[in-house]
Amino acid sequence: MMEFLLHCRSLLGDAHVLDTEADMAPFLTDWRGRFTGKAAAVLRPGSVEQVAALVKACARWQVPLVPQGGNTGLVLGSIPDASGSAVVLSLARLNTIRQIDTVNRTMTVDAGCILQQAQEAAAAEGCLFPLSLAAEGSCTIGGNLSTNAGGTAVLRYGNTRELCLGLEVVTPQGEIWSGLRGLRKDNTGYDLRDLFIGAEGTLGVITGAVLKLYPMPKASITALAALPSPADALRLLVLMQDHCGSSLTGFELMSRYCLELVARQFPQLPKPFADAHPQYVLLELSSSESEQHAVDLLERAIGAALEREVVTDAVVATSEAQSAGLWQLREHIPLAQAKAGKNIKHDISLPVSRIADFIAVTAPRLEAAFPGCQLVCFGHLGDGNLHFNVAPPEGVSNEDFLANQDKVNRVVHDSVVAFGGSISAEHGIGALKRDELAHYKSAVELNMMRAIKAALDPLGIMNPGKIL
Ligand SMILES: Cc1cc2nc3c(=O)[nH]c(=O)nc-3n(C[C@H](O)[C@H](O)[C@H](O)COP(=O)(O)OP(=O)(O)OC[C@H]3O[C@@H](n4cnc5c(N)ncnc54)[C@H](O)[C@@H]3O)c2cc1C
Repeated sequence: MMEFLLHCRSLLGDAHVLDTEADMAPFLTDWRGRFTGKAAAVLRPGSVEQVAALVKACARWQVPLVPQGGNTGLVLGSIPDASGSAVVLSLARLNTIRQIDTVNRTMTVDAGCILQQAQEAAAAEGCLFPLSLAAEGSCTIGGNLSTNAGGTAVLRYGNTRELCLGLEVVTPQGEIWSGLRGLRKDNTGYDLRDLFIGAEGTLGVITGAVLKLYPMPKASITALAALPSPADALRLLVLMQDHCGSSLTGFELMSRYCLELVARQFPQLPKPFADAHPQYVLLELSSSESEQHAVDLLERAIGAALEREVVTDAVVATSEAQSAGLWQLREHIPLAQAKAGKNIKHDISLPVSRIADFIAVTAPRLEAAFPGCQLVCFGHLGDGNLHFNVAPPEGVSNEDFLANQDKVNRVVHDSVVAFGGSISAEHGIGALKRDELAHYKSAVELNMMRAIKAALDPLGIMNPGKIL
């Protein structure tokens, strides 16, 4: 290890090889504060060539490496285990916007660019980079690609995978693969790009990407609808899509309990309705024509929903500040949960048409198994993605409840699989859900995944212990 670290210092200079406890601390604990790992060092390369040289050194000395972007991942993928044998490879210094092509509608960026930086660079050229999530001020494009992040605009623009045309990757052997093609059609054999997207750093280090850009909408408008049930939320989704087509860019479900939690923890946030309702849907519509067009579309659709009694009440934001206030309600749900205490998180996806039945069947099963537990159910309903989190019953300590984590997971995930869903919609597997993956994936699928890993990373140095 000494010789390896000396070599790293000669490549990067002392300032970019961190090995004191204090310097390494921010890189070793996950965002939710659930686990702190140990590392031999944190390496901070400043160029693609330095990344390649470092990975080559890791292969030569057989040192495991954990790629890290903004460290906002939620499944313990970006931090090392407790052995102290790995190094963290931080991509944060690779943060240049390399090129924007407004005709091809693409931007080529370094992997360490912060998502918000990429959004702003696109906007400065009059374009939209539509990936958007609450961690956008900290997460990086490399992390977004490696987790195939979803976020709030998937309904219209797709996951990060759909927003990427090309990649540059340092292989586990330390070679640079330049696949930075800005092509919308390229059928030249196996799609290597798609292998690295969502691989959570287990197959190589992403150093650059070509991302898709879209015309900037002329206007966006937000509304909050109150509804009797999740089944009505699905009826509203179909109605909105029929009326508004691809103008519907956001459709987020929030249960009454979620908004009560937010109101308790953040009393300064808006309270859009005088009375409580069982469910709420936050809607966003974008128009390439004008604000009036967006307002007309939304008002017609909401009017039809009220008439058919799909919706019991609705408020439409009439200013950007009001719109931001409504989005804050949605974005503060995870923060309110974190303030209220620990909970057991499930980031699941289901066929959209089965979501209401899933909730109707699974909520009583949880109540029967863990009486008094609190279900915090919200999410990107338009994408079939629910955050189906379970908090302790009143009076039960966090620790006592978390001791039931495996049992709670089994109730939820068995039901997810029975309804044809996935146990990880957008956060990935990391170390947190590795055993769950092994429990639910078929042997055929797991064996193909293991074969890919062994072929690309035969030494097993790339983020070991994650996914598989
Ligand atoms: C408040 C909050 C809200 C969130 N909302 C959403 C949401 O709506 N949708 C969603 O999908 N996620 C969400 N997340 C999760 C998280 O933000 C995403 O997973 C994000 O894409 C991670 O980016 P990052 O740069 O922080 O990656 P990190 O956390 O640093 O790493 C994540 C994984 O990617 C690997 N990795 C990172 N960079 C590279 C690279 N350059 N090459 C190879 N592997 C790499 C790491 O090894 C790790 O396995 C949220 C997180 C928070 C804290």
